[in-house]
Amino acid sequence: MIIDSHAHIYLEQFDDDRAEMIDRAQQAGVTEILMPNIDHTSIEAMMEAELRHPGMCFAMMGLHPCSVDKHFEKELYKVEEWLGKRAFKAVGEIGTDLYWDKTFWPEQQEAFRIQCELAVTHGLPVVIHSRESIDETIEMVRPFTEKGLSGVFHCFTGNEQQAERIMEMGFYLGIGGVLTFKKSGLDAVVKKTGLDQLILETDSPYLAPTPFRGKRNEPSYLTFVVEVLAAAMGMEANEVMEKTTRNTRSLFTSHEL
Ligand SMILES: [Zn+2]
Repeated sequence: MIIDSHAHIYLEQFDDDRAEMIDRAQQAGVTEILMPNIDHTSIEAMMEAELRHPGMCFAMMGLHPCSVDKHFEKELYKVEEWLGKRAFKAVGEIGTDLYWDKTFWPEQQEAFRIQCELAVTHGLPVVIHSRESIDETIEMVRPFTEKGLSGVFHCFTGNEQQAERIMEMGFYLGIGGVLTFKKSGLDAVVKKTGLDQLILETDSPYLAPTPFRGKRNEPSYLTFVVEVLAAAMGMEANEVMEKTTRNTRSLFTSHEL
């Protein structure tokens, strides 16, 4: 039993075979798929995927940093409105990104802080994207931990010190396909962190693990990540699955309203 804590399976890349892809995930032992939102354009498809796969696919609500521009407040009204309307697994995907575009860095920071505040208000964890901006994001999120905020740094690719600072705040590290890439160096990092604050994710359709690197990723490929993680830890795959599943459940259920 494993949980894919981060998969955009509602995107058009899966329009031709979504049901089959979810069957494959179930056969691989994936019991739940958590879906991070991107912006107002992705909400309908995400809700549709949740409706068609009850008990399997669960929606989050948030505005992705790569969708933040000078009109972000309009987007945030939508997010806030939805959060008031029904239950979600988390506020996500939120965060910062200095890799793709630095134009709206001030807006990114403001949108991130507003959404952390929304998560505190709704008693939800946050799912954080931070690309080339881990240190900045850690410092931005830190004040909110005093208000009880928890969450995950999704697709963690930082170093040991950054991992430690994140775990000190009670946050989790999302581990996916990058772990299986030869030069990622992430295996050395996870050896140090241990399993206590790791959760599994694919980030489907992106970041497929070896041997599918460069192809479309899907939740069933999580088993390849488990194998590499178990090898890095010197543990049995079953142990890794049990522990990370427990971590995921405690992060995403303990905060629910
Ligand atoms: Zn994502």
